[in-house]
Formats: sequence, C-alpha cells, structure tokens
Amino acid sequence: MALYTTDLLILGSGPAGYTAGIYAARAGISVTIVSGNQEGGQLTMTSAIENFPGFEEISGFELMDKMKNQAVKLGVQFVNDYIVEVDFAHRPFVCSSENGHSYKAKAVIIATGSSAKWLNLESEKKFLGYGVSACATCDGFFYRGRTVVVVGGGNSAVAEALYLATLADRVILVHRRHQLRADKILQDRVKENRKIVVEWDSVVEEILGVDEPKKVTGIRVRNVETDATKVINADGVFVAVGHQPNTEIFKGNLVLDSKGYIVTHANCSATDVEGVFAAGDVKDPKYKQAVISAGSGAIAAMDAIEYLDSVA
Ligand SMILES: Cc1cc2nc3c(=O)[nH]c(=O)nc-3n(C[C@H](O)[C@H](O)[C@H](O)COP(=O)(O)OP(=O)(O)OC[C@H]3O[C@@H](n4cnc5c(N)ncnc54)[C@H](O)[C@@H]3O)c2cc1C
Repeated sequence: MALYTTDLLILGSGPAGYTAGIYAARAGISVTIVSGNQEGGQLTMTSAIENFPGFEEISGFELMDKMKNQAVKLGVQFVNDYIVEVDFAHRPFVCSSENGHSYKAKAVIIATGSSAKWLNLESEKKFLGYGVSACATCDGFFYRGRTVVVVGGGNSAVAEALYLATLADRVILVHRRHQLRADKILQDRVKENRKIVVEWDSVVEEILGVDEPKKVTGIRVRNVETDATKVINADGVFVAVGHQPNTEIFKGNLVLDSKGYIVTHANCSATDVEGVFAAGDVKDPKYKQAVISAGSGAIAAMDAIEYLDSVA
C-alpha cells in the first residue's frame, strides 16, 4: 500500500486525461495520472481513426500510446490503478484505489470518460472494431455505399441512423418495440428517409461474420411478438442503446445531472467543489469525440493551473 502525493491528480488515461497531463506538466506542476481499468480509454477499442487531426489514419492503440509517451516524457507520473473512493470534503483531496493505494492531491481532474452500453452478446465482443461499433460519427465513413444496422430506438439511435443514411446505401434500424422513443421530429425524418427501414419488435440474437478476414456479414434477429428469427445481411452494426458516464464513485461527492454526467460551470471545467475539475466524455452527454475530449482536457489543466496558483 503506497501513498502518492502530487499537486494535480488526474483520474483517467483517455484523450482528456493525457492532454490534461501534458498541459499541466509543461506548467511545472507535479502531475500523477491514474490509468483506470482501460489504459488509453475508449479509443483503444477501435482499429482505425481518421478524424484526429494530424493523423490521416492511426489505430486507437497507437494514438493513445503516443499521448502517453508525450505525457511521461514531460514528467507526468503514471500509475496503473483504479480509484474506488474519493474524499473531496477535506484538503488535500484523497482518492483511494482498489489496490489499497492512497493519492493525495491539491487539485483533481476527473477524466474517467463514459462507457457505451452494449448488447452483451459474445459475437458483439468478437467483432468489436471489425464491423461492430458504438459510434457512427467515428466509423460511419467506412460504410459508404454499404448496408448497416443500427440497434436502438431512442434519440441517439435515430440520429445515428439518419447520419449513416447520408453515407450508407441502406440502414436497418432494429428496435425491440413497435414505436420509436426518439423525438417526433426525428421519427418523421426516419419515415421520410427512403434509405432507412425499421425492423420493429425485434432483438438482435447474434452478430454474424467470418474470421478471414474478420468482418461482420449480418445479424440474426428475433421478433419478440412472433418468436420468429431471420438473418439480415449487413456490413456493419452500430449499437446505439446509450452511454453510461463513469461517475459511480462521485455520487454524493459532486453534482451530477439526471443521467450521471458531472455538471461543470459554464465555459470551464470547474465542478461544484473548488479544486476539482472535469474533462471529456464524463461531463459531455452530447459530442463524445476524442478531439473534443483532448480539448476539454487542455481546458481543465489550464483551470487547475490557475487554481493551484491561487492557493499556492
Ligand atoms: C468503438 C469506439 C470507436 C470510437 N472511434 C472514435 C473515432 O474514430 N474518433 C473519435 O474522435 N472518437 C471516437 N470514439 C469516441 C472516443 O473514444 C471518446 O470520445 C474519447 O475516448 C473520450 O475520451 P475521454 O478521455 O473523455 O474518456 P475515455 O476515453 O472514456 O477514457 C476514460 C479513462 O478513465 C479511466 N477510468 C474510468 N474509471 C476510472 C476510475 N474509477 N479510476 C481511474 N480511472 C478511471 C479509464 O480507464 C479510461 O482510461 C470512439 C469510441 C468508441 C467506443
């Protein structure tokens, strides 16, 4: 059991956490990043990124490795650990980890991201990054002129289907009910869009594919009314059944919105606890993109530097 003492503690090693670390370290502050259970964050789940400026194409793993190396080279201390409890009521702040370590810090940046909700199918795990995605903005481009499935019936699923219809030839929206939950205006757009068909009352039982080269070829769906199953051919499957911010440990410590996202003051990263800042997907129910999280990390670092100067 170790005690780490640092000026700035950053929780999370996604684009927000690493960028915050890079900015803060360059300001001469002692910085510790705790990686969490997914070192590199969500981007490590994708094999090709084409929308991070400066890289025409790069794998998520490689991009995050570069960010980590940059942060470590600038003097950021990196610890592979997972925080399970925080005390923001006393100063210095204390965060405790599953390994029994304690982290004491004058300021904290929370960059614990969010997790896409999945269907929890074995085949979904198998083809994740090989035709299965949770992000149309990120991966839709790879399906120009092809057939894709979107799973879900809320605003995000419908928005993803409409977006994908601008790229793909055919979009099949699979929804387990007979009525979409999305706003009426979005529902109307789906009805009007000739490229989108809705597979009502249906659940995905399996994502089908081949191994060499590894790729999705379709899905098997079951109609919940009739119990009948059928195969739908498709090149990609976008799961759009929601996101969950990773904020369980902050409940009762910070103000969260109704969906669990950390609430920050307008135009900055400050939370309701002075000295605690939030960056990236953990505070962003809408945009959820790497470049935006990186920018958000830079903002949080600049806010934290200003705060640390003010209490020095
Ligand atoms: C399959 C997929 C493909 C994507 N493709 C693209 C793309 O092509 N382009 C793009 O711009 N965006 C893409 N995205 C979205 C992008 O990955 C996210 O917007 C971005 O990673 C968010 O960055 P973040 O730093 O806020 O959080 P995350 O990347 O979610 O990182 C969160 C970090 O917090 C850590 N953590 C969580 N809980 C704790 C804890 N208790 N203690 C310590 N650490 C903790 C995790 O281990 C992780 O390191 C994709 C997302 C997915 C799921």
